Amino acid sequence: MAEAENFIQAIIEEDLASGKISAVQTRFPPEPNGYLHIGHAKSMYVNFGTALKYGGKCNLYFDDTNPSKEKTEYVDAIRRDIEWLGYHWEKETYASDFFDVIYDYAERLIREGKAYVCDLSADEIRETRGTLTEPGVDSPYRNRTCEENLRLFREMRDGKYADGEKCLRAKIDMASPNLNLRDPVIYRILHAEHHRTGNKWCIYPMYDYAHPIADYLQGVTHSLCTLEFEDHRPLYDWVGIELGFSPKPRQIEFARLNLTNLVMSKRYLKKLVEEHSVRGWDDPRMPTLAGLRNRGIPAEAILDFCARAGVAKANSECEIGYFEAVVRDYLNARVPRAMAVVDPLKLTIVNYEGSEEVDFAINQLDEAAGTRKIRFGKTLYIERSDFSIDPPPKYHRLKPGGYARLKNAYIVRADEAVVDEKGEVTEIRCTYFPESHSGADTSGIKAKGVLHWVNAETCVDAELRKYDHLLRDAEYSGQDFSERINLDSEHIFSAKAEPYLAEAEENTAFQLMRTGYYKKCTENGKLILSEIVSLKDSFNKS
Ligand code: ATP
Ligand code: MG
Repeated sequence: MAEAENFIQAIIEEDLASGKISAVQTRFPPEPNGYLHIGHAKSMYVNFGTALKYGGKCNLYFDDTNPSKEKTEYVDAIRRDIEWLGYHWEKETYASDFFDVIYDYAERLIREGKAYVCDLSADEIRETRGTLTEPGVDSPYRNRTCEENLRLFREMRDGKYADGEKCLRAKIDMASPNLNLRDPVIYRILHAEHHRTGNKWCIYPMYDYAHPIADYLQGVTHSLCTLEFEDHRPLYDWVGIELGFSPKPRQIEFARLNLTNLVMSKRYLKKLVEEHSVRGWDDPRMPTLAGLRNRGIPAEAILDFCARAGVAKANSECEIGYFEAVVRDYLNARVPRAMAVVDPLKLTIVNYEGSEEVDFAINQLDEAAGTRKIRFGKTLYIERSDFSIDPPPKYHRLKPGGYARLKNAYIVRADEAVVDEKGEVTEIRCTYFPESHSGADTSGIKAKGVLHWVNAETCVDAELRKYDHLLRDAEYSGQDFSERINLDSEHIFSAKAEPYLAEAEENTAFQLMRTGYYKKCTENGKLILSEIVSLKDSFNKS
């Protein structure tokens, strides 16, 4: 048998070894009330990944018990994002598929004296629930007869009552040390149209009651969920025991993925979209899977990150820098290199005529990727920040009278800076040294700086977009979410790029030398270079 990599797998191996189960069945249970985010990737990694490891199956289970917030648009987006991540679900199921059975089970609980219709309002129920140190108070409706409960529950179903006028509660124990067992509400009245069942129902089961039933009906062996459901497990088990489920699914909780500088609740992400703080659910700064995809982050890198972050029993916060480091490592090993200059400054080589091709390694870490040719010429562009008229000490880029190497080509000396009437440098005029060609340098000239460049004759105009995190960092974490939003998180620069970038397939990722990892795309005929992740590692791996 495969070796257990975490505590969940250890439990599953025990259950397989003891013969308690013969095959693993899990489910990934999103509520279709928004787009999936990187936290859900972790949940998928656990649910789909565990099933895969043991040759089992994982269903896609839509928890659609909350009709006022759910939409078909979200169902479609969720399906797309799971497929993009590379997972395949066995069956697609919905809580609403089971509404009839869930209802019948409720009548059964009523008949067996294990549930009652309560007329208290939601506030009154909360107020009589007690605290961690004090028991709750029995509802005055707790001892209604089975017949009365059944009649009232059917009237609830038939639409006789308004929202909130009545509810169905499990009759468990108002003095239980676990508040979730103090006669929890299991059905509520809600006159709302459901995205799948339309107006068939005006009562809807609560998550804690519907979930164990749906798990059982799907043959789920292990119901893997996040830690906040740990206190709900006794209720999950209560439902299974009272309804005589055999074999009873086993709920196991694991820690949520939390990342600094990111907000991961759908509620807040929705707010960002609705208030137009971002362009949409798939804005490249969003932690949604659609956003990460649009950002150019490969699905494999996300799964790699989930694997490395591990599956733990205790909550913790992961630094966003760690995620970025994983993405950077992934791209570094795989993507082609290219050159683009931001804020271009013209460089003319006074003693060079014509043009020639120079070799350029597609990815120096991957010899098999080979090389390509880049056309070098008399007039080039370099980055404005690579030239300084009045440089600080130890400046290795170009300065008046100084030397620098043009990447994969020659060493040049800056002889003259052409300055316009505003005092701005508009051109640098240089001399090149024919014996200094990269790989065959016999010039004896020392040049510490190596600058990237593009050929002014062949280059194309581009727009370069850089991103900051959407949320200010961890030290602000106590503050209100709206105060942490970094509205100034997208920065746009004009750039000149190699024609190679314009010709590349849409959405290809590149390492732009000395700039970062960027995705290429085209908008209205214009080349857009959009940052995936910065070049420098700000994450301290120690
Ligand atoms: P949100 O607060 O973003 O709406 P949720 O938990 O309500 O999250 P669901 O659609 O109910 O979202 O989640 C589906 C599954 O994904 C659940 O089992 C949930 O526990 C899990 N999940 C959600 N967020 C995370 C996270 N940050 N890390 C790990 N699992 C998560
Ligand atoms: Mg939710």
